[in-house]
Amino acid sequence: MVYFDNSATTKVCKKSAEKALYLMTEGFGNPSSVHSLGVDAEGEMENARKIIAKKISCSPAEITFTSCGTEANNLAIFGAVSKNKRLGKKIVTTCVEHPSVLNAMKHLENEGYEVIYLPVDKEGCVLAKDIENAIDKNTILVSIMLINNESGAIMPVKVARDAIIKNNSPALLHCDCVQAFGKIDFTPATLGADLISISGHKVHAPKGIGALYIKKGIKINPQMLGGGQEKGLRSGTEAVELIGAFGEAVKELPTVDIAEKYIRNINNRLREGIKSIDGFFINSGENASPYILNVSTEKIPSEVMIRFLESKGIFVSGGSACSKGARSHVLLAQGVSPKRIDCAIRISMCSDNTMEEAELLLDALKEALNLV
Ligand code: PLP
Repeated sequence: MVYFDNSATTKVCKKSAEKALYLMTEGFGNPSSVHSLGVDAEGEMENARKIIAKKISCSPAEITFTSCGTEANNLAIFGAVSKNKRLGKKIVTTCVEHPSVLNAMKHLENEGYEVIYLPVDKEGCVLAKDIENAIDKNTILVSIMLINNESGAIMPVKVARDAIIKNNSPALLHCDCVQAFGKIDFTPATLGADLISISGHKVHAPKGIGALYIKKGIKINPQMLGGGQEKGLRSGTEAVELIGAFGEAVKELPTVDIAEKYIRNINNRLREGIKSIDGFFINSGENASPYILNVSTEKIPSEVMIRFLESKGIFVSGGSACSKGARSHVLLAQGVSPKRIDCAIRISMCSDNTMEEAELLLDALKEALNLV
């Protein structure tokens, strides 16, 4: 099997799976229990928090566990807006965010907030000047992703922090780093972010675990009320097995720079190979993350191409795994033609992929075009 759909989800690494199994079958205590099983479970959870915090250079107290990246995005957006609703009515985001941000924004629009959806250029990037112009004194939240999940475009998030300061805006800055975590070197300070969302299953941990970085001193309102776990920000008995597995997976991640170099080599080979096939187009910009490569023909619909590649044992997706057949809002915003959008496939990588797999994919893509 050749798996090139790592932006949809990743294979759980062995150490992570072993930790989950151990925490489900032996270290299964409730972290709120005062007996030793509870205390041990709490210890496992705090250890994972430390590992994840270290990866982005923040303090463990700034990490709140959630059930997924979607929940982290929802908590950040609704939590920030409900906390700061008296300070203004304006929110700034981009038109290429993940549905877990865009649908939250639509909800807020229905509640009477003014949401500015910044456009992107043909490489899928938001322009710094558009970010600067959109943020003002009435803006209470800015939400811009770091790496786009369909195109791999890397956004100039830090510009938003500078604009917030320059315009004396009360806005909190949220950054969806679900596709960036473990793949690009960022810290809350380099992004200037108050809130950062990450997700376990994109980095070889199981599905169903995510986290929200909340900068020390920043207050947001909880969206789940109950027993007051996670310092009252996210009630519900903590999923210790998933949290422990998340920590273990992060510990196992290769060094960002070394992995990036390795993936860039494969990406370069794929780009070069795809450019040499007549009838293929690359939708990802030259400066995109090397982990994501979005390409199109104008002849083979995404679904048909996905099935053809699957018949060769190669797994990719069409657009994002979440769009489920709807025409990609990301490629549309980039100005890609509907014909090409309908034929787009997303090749997404992780450090398990090899150059040999890239060659197999290139051969299969050539064969597909020869068949039409
Ligand atoms: N944000 C981005 C950019 C994503 O790519 C995804 C998942 O594909 C999410 C958020 C949602 O994460 P989760 O699947 O953990 O809910």
